[in-house]
Amino acid sequence: MNDVSVSATNATEAIEKDVVIVGAGPVGLFAVFELGLLDLNAALIDILDKPGGQCAELYPEKPIYDIPGFPVVTGDGLVDKLMEQIKPFNPTFHLGRMVETLQRLPDGRFRLTTDMDDTFICKVVVIAAGGGSFQPKRPPVPGIEAYEGTSVFYSVRRMEEFRDHDLLIVGGGDSALDWTLNLQPLAKSLTLVHRRDEFRAAPDSVNKMKALLADGKIRFQLGQVSGLRGGDGQLSAATVKDSKGYETDVACTRMLPFFGLTMKLGPVANWGINLDENLIPVDTERFETSEPGIFAIGDINTYPGKLKLILCGFHEAALMAQAAVHIVYPEKRIVFQYTTSSSSLQKKLGVI
Ligand SMILES: Cc1cc2nc3c(=O)[nH]c(=O)nc-3n(C[C@H](O)[C@H](O)[C@H](O)COP(=O)(O)OP(=O)(O)OC[C@H]3O[C@@H](n4cnc5c(N)ncnc54)[C@H](O)[C@@H]3O)c2cc1C
Repeated sequence: MNDVSVSATNATEAIEKDVVIVGAGPVGLFAVFELGLLDLNAALIDILDKPGGQCAELYPEKPIYDIPGFPVVTGDGLVDKLMEQIKPFNPTFHLGRMVETLQRLPDGRFRLTTDMDDTFICKVVVIAAGGGSFQPKRPPVPGIEAYEGTSVFYSVRRMEEFRDHDLLIVGGGDSALDWTLNLQPLAKSLTLVHRRDEFRAAPDSVNKMKALLADGKIRFQLGQVSGLRGGDGQLSAATVKDSKGYETDVACTRMLPFFGLTMKLGPVANWGINLDENLIPVDTERFETSEPGIFAIGDINTYPGKLKLILCGFHEAALMAQAAVHIVYPEKRIVFQYTTSSSSLQKKLGVI
């Protein structure tokens, strides 16, 4: 994976860009390229901690066979190539944060805020939010809501918050095993709970976890969490039930369940844009929403004949950029050019 310069701190000042792209999936990434060719700079915001959307999160190692020019490429492989392709345009990545609000300012520009308290100001918004925001699946443990955000967390934003805690990590996939390995040195104690003795995570992680177990540095409990004990949002123990119904109490002050992610439309629904069954209707000339200056491309939009394919999203990005440039530079005359023959485009790409 190419390097991504991620915004690490919460910005206190607003970040100003020509364009803010909500969603760093394949279509949001390619939009940076099409906008860049027209001299529009962009910020990409994504709730995930990595670029690539569904390709990176749902099928990183699966082959895709219908990307033009690539007879076969994996999800991760495509994301790597897109990252390489947009590098000349130096977009800023603001990962691990969800865009919550979108408002129009009196001067016609837009203001977006995230759940990490960043503020962005821009002239054009591109919603490339795919199936919506990835949100963690909540395990079916009675009363778990009372501990969420205080003792139960579905992601690790700052490892330090887990230092010196009795940790309970639940799950058998990559996230559960990666965080078991990463948090073990910080934790006071760490217990991994999984319903089976087999793990879906990468074999290397499984081997490392088993080595920690053999050294007595972590504990493993077979079963499922069936109840939680504590008060005022502070967890003190979890009950783990095995397949025969036997229950064991495990002392813990922090619990991290990793049960995968589901996609929900999320805050997009509150931005005052016309929706059609959780999708955003757009025209097929500009891919603009019901709000001028707000575009929607990729899986999130709908129009007659829409196909939820990556290549369709790429086409939509190209046409969107041709419309967006007139909003950012209303006076500029735009001459259509090919990358093959335009030295001006080649300079922007840094190839001459
Ligand atoms: C298993 C599988 C196989 C597939 N195979 C193919 C294939 O072979 N060929 C093909 O063309 N397509 C395939 N697809 C479909 C393809 O993955 C999608 O069409 C593509 O990912 C859409 O890209 P996108 O950028 O529009 O959205 P996404 O990839 O969904 O990315 C959207 C991003 O927006 C972010 N986001 C959403 N809301 C917010 C918010 N409020 N704030 C911040 N970030 C937000 C999300 O976190 C996400 O990362 C497949 C899909 C799946 C699930």
